[in-house]
Amino acid sequence: MWRKWTPPGPGSSHERMRRAPDVSGLVCGTCGLRLPAGSPRLQCACGGLLEAQPSSSLRGRRLRAAFDRRLAGDPAGQGSGVWRFRELLLPGRGALVSHPEGNTNLYRRDAVSRWAGVADLALKHEGENPTGSFKDRGMTVAVTQAVRAGATALACASTGNTSASLAAYAAQAGVPALVFIPRAKVAPGKLAQALCYGAHVLEVRADFDECLRLVREASSELGLTLLNSVNPWRIEGQKTIVLEMLQQRGWEPPDWIMVPAGNLGNTAAFGKALVEARERGLISRLPRIAAIQAAGAAPFYHSFRAGFRRRFRVRAETVATAIRIGDPVSYERAARAIRQTRGVVAAVSDREILAAKAVIDGAGIGCEPASAASLAGLRQLVRRGIVGRRDSVVAVLTGHLLKDPHVTRAKPVPIAPRLAEVERILKGIR
Ligand SMILES: *Cc1c(COP(=O)(O)O)cnc(C)c1O
Ligand SMILES: [Zn+2]
Repeated sequence: MWRKWTPPGPGSSHERMRRAPDVSGLVCGTCGLRLPAGSPRLQCACGGLLEAQPSSSLRGRRLRAAFDRRLAGDPAGQGSGVWRFRELLLPGRGALVSHPEGNTNLYRRDAVSRWAGVADLALKHEGENPTGSFKDRGMTVAVTQAVRAGATALACASTGNTSASLAAYAAQAGVPALVFIPRAKVAPGKLAQALCYGAHVLEVRADFDECLRLVREASSELGLTLLNSVNPWRIEGQKTIVLEMLQQRGWEPPDWIMVPAGNLGNTAAFGKALVEARERGLISRLPRIAAIQAAGAAPFYHSFRAGFRRRFRVRAETVATAIRIGDPVSYERAARAIRQTRGVVAAVSDREILAAKAVIDGAGIGCEPASAASLAGLRQLVRRGIVGRRDSVVAVLTGHLLKDPHVTRAKPVPIAPRLAEVERILKGIR
């Protein structure tokens, strides 16, 4: 089923590789270096990011039919909402490190649509993945590849969810994991997961951006396998958020996709998924991507405003810790995703994020603060006239409510164990 990767002949250009989609492997987005798909190397010596090229040559109706058939049962993909799309992910055969993951719901709630100002809104809840965030989708692919390539230790820097996810998949694979987290900046639910799943948690006196620099250095110098979204296989797995959403909509794309944006791996993955889906004839038109940043951590937004002519770095601060990132590593490829989809980048204040979270929580769905940036951004873009009130929109909720349990608006009401007290409270409610 899989085509074997063959080294391209002399004189073959990056461009030619793009036009020959059944040549699979990794290519450096900066210098054009090519590596076989099974390579243990995950970073290019030039500092550029490696990108996976698609493997199978299936396309159009046949590819769609293969994906749709698996909804009724898919032993080879273990029922995973990631591995269902395996022709577009990782070439090669072998055991999968899968929980399984994906298969997340699309929710429609009138109160949420009304608040945002659009009639046709669905929330894709990636908090329903096994460790409570979309990171599991990238992790199953990247850890599967790492194990196949003979990794002896896995590592990542994390604002929390990547470490929780890596810890779980490393435990399943039986490979040790080191996670680097910024001290006192990781939400308690996420830290608990990393510790309970048995990762070695290194609390660094630094912010996320410095943690990432340290772990990238450690992986090239000390032989750790890097599981941040610098790892191209993470991006491949995260493409399935979009692929699964399109499948849930009968391959009818929405007008817009809203995504919270921090290190920009997801923004890049969404763009790659959409462009490949169109090239493969899965869809005929591209939705527009809206990447939403927190105003206190919005370097990508500033670049967008400058027409992507300048790259910004900031010292990040926001209540949305999962997107508290000042120097996003996937900047270049995310900028490409925005350009290719005629997308936009917006920034929302912590106050707007918390207001959106209250609406999502109040509808009985719930999410962590960073996730609510997508809804806050939608409301802002509707008010600015950029998203039309009759446009169809999918907003991605990236993480589960319990990740950040201390971010609550309401507080418990203390009472004495007396019926009269209950009665007094009840009067206030009715
Ligand atoms: C990782 C994460 C993000 C940010 O995704 P990037 O790919 O870094 O832009 C947003 N929300 C949650 C809950 C996350 O865990
Ligand atoms: Zn390179």
